[in-house]
Amino acid sequence: MEWTKEALKELEQVPRFVRHMAKKAVEKAARETGMDRVTPEIVLRTKEKYFSLVGKEAESGRKTTKVAVVRCHTVAEVCPGVGCLKAFTHRKLNFSEYGPDTEMIGFFTCGGCSGRRASRLVEKLLDHGLDVVHLSSCMCMDDDDYPRCPFKNQIRKAIEAKGVKVVEGTHH
Ligand code: SF4
Repeated sequence: MEWTKEALKELEQVPRFVRHMAKKAVEKAARETGMDRVTPEIVLRTKEKYFSLVGKEAESGRKTTKVAVVRCHTVAEVCPGVGCLKAFTHRKLNFSEYGPDTEMIGFFTCGGCSGRRASRLVEKLLDHGLDVVHLSSCMCMDDDDYPRCPFKNQIRKAIEAKGVKVVEGTHH
């Protein structure tokens, strides 16, 4: 759908991490009212409605920290992830720095050696505002129960290359 210059300027006022969703919402609203061009008025009208859906956080520009955990695919066969999830829920150990408004938006395994699924799924989370990826403790330890992941550094670099911070460890 065509946008006027002024409408695009209005859209730029929307925080970047929700701008894509806001654009879709505006275009839908324009279509519903029979418009074939987006004007600043329809952007302003939709912004009000849209922000009531996405919350005050977006309206104020304040951003919730969004984290995800990548786990070892092999270890996941015997581990449901309780340790990682409890540590996050109670903001313990490697999650102790986060405030109450932090959200976990992804919890997935690497997909098996050599862990290529990790960067693919991280890519998907970029649209959802992902800030930090934790590599689970099972990927970072090196003992009899959890042998060293030979691809950890490779996985870490692939995630960092997407501009996402990586923290090693969850509940150990
Ligand atoms: S790449 Fe590492 S984390 Fe993934 S399955 Fe293999 S050993 Fe586990």
